[in-house]
Amino acid sequence: MTMSLPAILPSESDVESFWQAGLRFATGVSVITVGSGERVHGTTVSAFTVVSRCPALVSLCLRTSSGLAEFLIDHRHFAVNILSREQSRLARHFANPARGQGPDQFTGVAWTPGFDAGVPLLDRAVCWLWCQFRRVVPAGDHQLVLAGVTAAKTGTGAPLLYYAGRLHPGAIGEEVA
Ligand SMILES: Cc1cc2nc3c(=O)[nH]c(=O)nc-3n(C[C@H](O)[C@H](O)[C@H](O)COP(=O)(O)OP(=O)(O)OC[C@H]3O[C@@H](n4cnc5c(N)ncnc54)[C@H](O)[C@@H]3O)c2cc1C
Repeated sequence: MTMSLPAILPSESDVESFWQAGLRFATGVSVITVGSGERVHGTTVSAFTVVSRCPALVSLCLRTSSGLAEFLIDHRHFAVNILSREQSRLARHFANPARGQGPDQFTGVAWTPGFDAGVPLLDRAVCWLWCQFRRVVPAGDHQLVLAGVTAAKTGTGAPLLYYAGRLHPGAIGEEVA
């Protein structure tokens, strides 16, 4: 049985309050890279989540207008590059609609071809995951992408954080009591 969801928030200002509250959930920042050669693409995403340990599953949440989902469906495999605190420039670059298309987006970006398809892995990221597209689930004005993880490599360094709509340098120190 399918159920239609009610509009939960009554007014536009309530919707904005909800969105601003959601932005108080601090996340890391990743650049999704997909394809190679002339058909390569990269996009900044904060809505990345590890969903399941066994089987290894992750999710992305993308705007319905995002061109990235089409690339993921076409190529079936993609990399998640979790950015380090020194990579705020890359986070902004791969979110800029004027970054160009195909390999032009990677001009001046340090990367190494990785995993089995030569996908760009951004140098100096905190870690890299190699993911296999599974499905897209429509979710309001966004869409949830579910993917399996077939390989992972960890780097070093502290992560870049996204909180309240701004980028912040993560500082990883001693565990708090
Ligand atoms: C810190 C941060 C976190 C973010 N987190 C998220 C998030 O979690 N989810 C989210 O949805 N957005 C997020 N964004 C916004 C997102 O990064 C931008 O909106 C970005 O531009 C979306 O890129 P896209 O790949 O969807 O491509 P588009 O915005 O669709 O287009 C970008 C470029 O790719 C080209 N292009 C697009 N599709 C194709 C195609 N099929 N073939 C050839 N060229 C194509 C376009 O011409 C354009 O040049 C975040 C931004 C920031 C700064």
